[in-house]
Amino acid sequence: TYKVRYAPSPTGPLHIGGARTVLFDYLLARQAGGTFLIRSEDTDLARSSAHWEEEILDSIQWLGLDWQEGLRVGGENGPYRQTERLDIYKNFLDQLFDKKDCYKCFCSAEEIEAQRQESMAKGETPKYSGKCRSLTEDQITELEGQGKKYVIRFKVPQGQVITIDDKVRGIVKFESDGIGDYVIVKSDGIPTYNFAVVIDDITMGITDVVRGDEHLSNTPRQVLIYDALQQPKPKFAHVSLILNEQKKKMSKRDGDTSVDQYRDKGYLPEALINFLALLGWAPEGERELFTLDELLKEFSLDRVSKNPAVFNMEKLKWMNSVYIKNLPIKELVTRVKPFLRNNITDIDSYEESWLENVVESVREKMTVLSDIVELTADIFHDDIDFDGEKSRDILKQEEVDSVMDLFKEKIIAAEELNYNKVEDILKSLTKELNLGGKKVFMPLRVALTGRTSGGELYSLIPILGKERVIKRVDKMLS
Ligand code: GLU
Repeated sequence: TYKVRYAPSPTGPLHIGGARTVLFDYLLARQAGGTFLIRSEDTDLARSSAHWEEEILDSIQWLGLDWQEGLRVGGENGPYRQTERLDIYKNFLDQLFDKKDCYKCFCSAEEIEAQRQESMAKGETPKYSGKCRSLTEDQITELEGQGKKYVIRFKVPQGQVITIDDKVRGIVKFESDGIGDYVIVKSDGIPTYNFAVVIDDITMGITDVVRGDEHLSNTPRQVLIYDALQQPKPKFAHVSLILNEQKKKMSKRDGDTSVDQYRDKGYLPEALINFLALLGWAPEGERELFTLDELLKEFSLDRVSKNPAVFNMEKLKWMNSVYIKNLPIKELVTRVKPFLRNNITDIDSYEESWLENVVESVREKMTVLSDIVELTADIFHDDIDFDGEKSRDILKQEEVDSVMDLFKEKIIAAEELNYNKVEDILKSLTKELNLGGKKVFMPLRVALTGRTSGGELYSLIPILGKERVIKRVDKMLS
């Protein structure tokens, strides 16, 4: 049965490209009623860490994508970290040795580098000369006896054309003569990616490999190992790169490239999923909005382009705002609370229905959840500090007391506070006190929000409600 895997190297956060691969893996596995497996390629000991593994898995779970086998969930083909599978690799390595498909190479790093320079000077693509292929058993025993370090190289057969029928790229051919004997085990005994990944895919029963384009050139190297071990090959699908708007490879310089950064800014996982799906996949028709369930119905690799996808930030923002608009209000409140909590530590003490009104009043203006902080700054400013220089000057004006007194009186008398009612009240204040608008609005704004600029008072006051308005005015007067 259908089985796909995602095999991140835990050397950094989950990038946008990786997240898209995860999404495609997830969709394909579910569509096929198969299994989605996640494991870790942690053979780069210096750069891998448990921290990044956790981060990556957390990001995938935050996206709402689940898997049936591997890290966190277990399964019968574990362990699921390459560093814990060394004995498994050893077993397959022995098979390659038995069939003389690999050999120990004692060439020093300096020698290899000198060869590389030489090829480059001749304008050739560097590849290993094959020098140690012809070492005799005796020579090997002697070199080992001298304690010389070695790597293990795969013996690439000559004159072969390796054909890959890629589900996205179509037929891709490579000539084995262009590939030098490559390292499959490093001098520290740790296998390289190209070897370990094949053994993992074989032993875990992977039927389909879906991964980034950057691995296409590794595929012939992996195919040769399957063939040497006489193992059936999985089907391959290489998904195109994601480019920035300048059509260059997305890099950290382009701003946010990892899923956690989008989460922390307040992108909704639903919106990100929708956006990621459209990076490379073209649905039929003009439609752009898809829930995960809808993607499950519509998605297919046939409509995934082999051309690079362009990351359009404006589109992601638009999509996120649409998803924010469509969330049920209770759900939206739940989602913005963590962002509010940073500034308003007692956010949970507010009445839920009032919070719903507050969030609803600014929902239209939100692009990301974190916008809530700035958009509600006036509203949540219960503990007002009037000491700012500008505010102090405004509150010192002589007519302030009479503005406040009359305002309070009218607010108390009002049966219901709404936009029109507040507009009436404030207009009648200017008239009755015979003051310019600024002289009325500024002190009120400072009293109610602690700031000298902000949103429209007509809509702010009804949201604050009588009680809060009066409390804030009294506080200012005291
Ligand atoms: N560790 C590789 C990566 O993170 C996985 C490659 C593969 O899927 O074969 O790109």
